[in-house]
Amino acid sequence: ASSRDKDKSVNVQVLLRCRPFSEDELRSNAPQVVTCNDFQKEVAVSQTIAGKQIDRVFTFDKVFGPCAKQKDLYEQAIVPIVNEVLEGFNCTIFAYGQTGTGKTHTMEGECRRAKSGPKGQLPVDAGVIPRAVKQIFDALEGQHTEYSVKVTFLELYNEEITDLLAPEELSKISLEDKQKKQLPLMEDGKGGVLVRGLDEEIVTCADEIFSLLERGSSKRRTAETLLNKQSSRSHSLFSITIHIKEATPEGEELIKCGKLNLVDLAGSENISRSGAREGRAREAGEINKSLLTLGRVITALVEHLGHIPYRDSKLTRLLRDSLGGRTKTCIIATVNQKMMKSTLIKDLYGEIDRLKAV
Ligand code: ADP
Ligand code: MG
Repeated sequence: ASSRDKDKSVNVQVLLRCRPFSEDELRSNAPQVVTCNDFQKEVAVSQTIAGKQIDRVFTFDKVFGPCAKQKDLYEQAIVPIVNEVLEGFNCTIFAYGQTGTGKTHTMEGECRRAKSGPKGQLPVDAGVIPRAVKQIFDALEGQHTEYSVKVTFLELYNEEITDLLAPEELSKISLEDKQKKQLPLMEDGKGGVLVRGLDEEIVTCADEIFSLLERGSSKRRTAETLLNKQSSRSHSLFSITIHIKEATPEGEELIKCGKLNLVDLAGSENISRSGAREGRAREAGEINKSLLTLGRVITALVEHLGHIPYRDSKLTRLLRDSLGGRTKTCIIATVNQKMMKSTLIKDLYGEIDRLKAV
């Protein structure tokens, strides 16, 4: 895999995270399909289809089983990525999997510091985003350099961008307003893209980011209910941009700029929903677009194809400066141990196989 080859320009790692049984799953008699040992590289999938048992083994850069805690995943896989960002590189972390397998738990988890807890400590269930924020500010606050940190938080639904940090009250938005809230994605003339009107919050401490994250997540949930959205169909992108002023030994000033993108992808079951009907058709198609294009972009990167189809979806346009080249990409594929629908298992692993085609 290219992830272990430092000389290659592509750096993609794929992790598997299998969540523990929920109480419902414990009560139900669905068979255990996925077996994994913590911190190994392999996972066994065993299922019975039409009376025939099929066993397969899948290999990952690392497997985090039901006993692995948020801290384990972060320390073993994410710390080096955030260090790259602090060194001035752009990196992206994706959570990819079916709805209900723990994408949001992995990315966000519990974000708020317990009020009663020791100062500077995160809750044990804090996910990748709050832990990355803490790592960044611990590193920056320990340095005697000037720095700035900016945050954006957007949602991509139906190939339309909405700002999760915009202050307006959703409940007061009419349907026409809703149309206007979609932000256009434009070329910035320097080879990059920008989202016109997207709120960029300048933050000075970790706690400010935690509030923003909370505000954005609750807005995402409100919008779901109010605008009849399905959370499983939207992608969210939380980006942290850091500028650090440094002086070279010659006394010259240098600005290091790094960006960390944290993406909670739409449920991977949406990728295979080709038989969508009526009003859902466009939606399903558009969701496919970003997920499918992401798969194609990653495949093109790891296979060193000449043409990388960034332009084919909003998500990949947004992430263009952070995928490929001197960047690190980490895909956390989430699963549960009991998967009821065998067809979904096939789809899921088909996708992972494709993403892992390294
Ligand atoms: P998704 O975002 O993929 O739809 P969620 O993150 O909402 O899934 O997780 C579904 C449920 O499972 C939530 O109640 C969540 O708290 C729980 N869960 C997910 N992963 C874990 C885990 N590793 N440990 C404990 N509970 C988890
Ligand atoms: Mg979710």
